[in-house]
Amino acid sequence: MRIVALEEHFTVPELIGRIEPATIRARGFPGPDIRPLAKARSADLAEVGPERLARMDEAGISLQVLSAVGPGADLLDPTRGIALARDYNNRLKQIVNERPDRFAGFAHLPMTAPDAAADELERAVRELGFCGALVNGTTEGRFLDDPMYAPLLARAEQLDVPIYLHPGIPPEAVRKAYYDGLPGGTGFVLSTAGWGWHAETAVHVLRLVLSGTLERHRRLKLIIGHMGEGLPAMMARCDNTLGGEVSTYLDRGVSETILDQVWITTSGFFTLAPFMAALMTFGADRILFSVDYPFARNDVGTRFLDTLPVSPADKLKIAHANADRLLGLKP
Ligand code: ZN
Repeated sequence: MRIVALEEHFTVPELIGRIEPATIRARGFPGPDIRPLAKARSADLAEVGPERLARMDEAGISLQVLSAVGPGADLLDPTRGIALARDYNNRLKQIVNERPDRFAGFAHLPMTAPDAAADELERAVRELGFCGALVNGTTEGRFLDDPMYAPLLARAEQLDVPIYLHPGIPPEAVRKAYYDGLPGGTGFVLSTAGWGWHAETAVHVLRLVLSGTLERHRRLKLIIGHMGEGLPAMMARCDNTLGGEVSTYLDRGVSETILDQVWITTSGFFTLAPFMAALMTFGADRILFSVDYPFARNDVGTRFLDTLPVSPADKLKIAHANADRLLGLKP
């Protein structure tokens, strides 16, 4: 069975090396040698050759759509951010060119320069053949509903490519108010993979709905990971509290808008309860398999895919057919 995974990450350490360590620390990223696990992951992120391919083979993953995570162009001023994003994408194009049968790409965008981000998205799609872009959380405290990003969203619509809303490190004020004062490294993990990332990405989607951004960009397609970032369990609650007279300025209901314009992936979530909630809300046409490599294991992901209590036809949709259609991949 063809298996496509699309929240799969890589980094280019020499490009990250262009960002001052003090800037990286100020944005809330942990230092490189905090935990042995983090070190191993850094190596796995940077490796895009035989080891990665061997782990894909062992797990039966046909194709990874690669995206950059960690410190990136959004930490730099517009001029340097534009150059970094361009070099990141050119490097990704080389990686894809070496194994076009195994890798595809999401663009890394210079988010501090929104107009240039729209142009870089277009270059990445038209010239480099990428499938869309992945955005890591907030940029200088702004979500994509900020009017400055309207040209980027319009360009994604014109190009008919999705934007993957991926979590990022929370802004400093959020870190301080919500996550400081806990023992050891627990505050950092709570602010990110332990809870905060998922809440933040769900807020990101809801802001795009409630601001009317998705009304203004009706053809915009969004992807979110982690089995829908909690939204499947919250969908009816969102309609009850945020719909009706609270948001009469919207043409569509909250969940209706989400179900029109958002696709979800299984990245890092390989248990049945959240999957069933996702299946009962988003349905099999809107769930796409993903792993979140190297933060989750390919083999754990594909074993979970094997056991899903869905029809063979729905399993094929989740494994690859939905992704092939949404991303325009040619099997
Ligand atoms: Zn991820």
